[in-house]
Amino acid sequence: MAVPDLALNSGQTIPQLGFGVFKIDPAETADAVAEALEVGYRHIDTAEMYGNEKEVGEAVRASGLDRGEVFITSKLNNGYHRPDDARRAFDGTLEALGSNYVDLFLIHWPLPTLYGGDFVSTWHTLEEFYRDGRARSIGLSNFQVAHVQRVVDESEVVPAVNQIEVHPYLCNEEVRAANAEYGILTEAWSPLAKGRVLRDQTIGAIASRLSRTTAQVVLRWHVQRGDIIFPKSTTPIRMKENFEIFDFELEAEDIAAISTLDRGEPGRTGPNPDVFARVPR
Ligand code: NDP
Repeated sequence: MAVPDLALNSGQTIPQLGFGVFKIDPAETADAVAEALEVGYRHIDTAEMYGNEKEVGEAVRASGLDRGEVFITSKLNNGYHRPDDARRAFDGTLEALGSNYVDLFLIHWPLPTLYGGDFVSTWHTLEEFYRDGRARSIGLSNFQVAHVQRVVDESEVVPAVNQIEVHPYLCNEEVRAANAEYGILTEAWSPLAKGRVLRDQTIGAIASRLSRTTAQVVLRWHVQRGDIIFPKSTTPIRMKENFEIFDFELEAEDIAAISTLDRGEPGRTGPNPDVFARVPR
């Protein structure tokens, strides 16, 4: 039941299934990550915004695993898009993680209505971290099609990933297609729509037929579509359940049936990236 490794355009590989730590209290993060590593997860998705990078680093060190065995992603917070701020923030991320590199570093939000809409110079600053080897891969998060297009047109390094909201109620196909066109892998955040898809009758019926849980069927849908996922759970039994999705397959008709649940914009659980503009004080 090995988790597949996907090839990034940087030459690195990333485990297709990871563990997300958004909204896990810093005081509980080290225990949650330790539990996840025990279950078998080898990919942790954190962010400066989550306030728990330090605890992620502590748990990885305490696990006895080599640093190279665990893929860690972090993200540039919204207040630090200007190049000098981004450089300081990136130093802070490495210090918090207690590591001299991060596997993947993302611009958390494009913030097209702030900073004069200039997320491209922020991207060029991430290119510095990539070139000096402190970020093994770099990428985007919450970039819409037009934003991806600008980064690709105006930069040398093509982003390795674009981490966007994707789940059965928001399939986000246009952004996924733009990512694919440029060889950018899609990472699907809130893969369970924060739990909202778990009471869905269509998915529930498929799960009953396959003797799987609804969460497992949804996560399997993502995996078979080729996206990278990192469901969050602080419940050990669910962490295990979410990890056990590589010993069954969905038929094409089941994948299609789940994809028809797409509600478009109203299906979002989070903000629309075109207008999202929250910066920490
Ligand atoms: P998820 O879609 O992963 O859902 C998490 C919720 O589902 C929690 O309430 C959890 O409860 C519950 N849950 C998890 N597994 C199961 C299960 N098997 N059965 C029943 N309930 C379950 O939402 P998140 O928003 O946490 O997204 C996952 C990750 O995506 C984040 O941790 C973060 O890394 C990333 N993310 C990135 C964003 C970005 O802007 N780039 C934005 C949002 C998320 P419990 O913990 O109680 O078990």
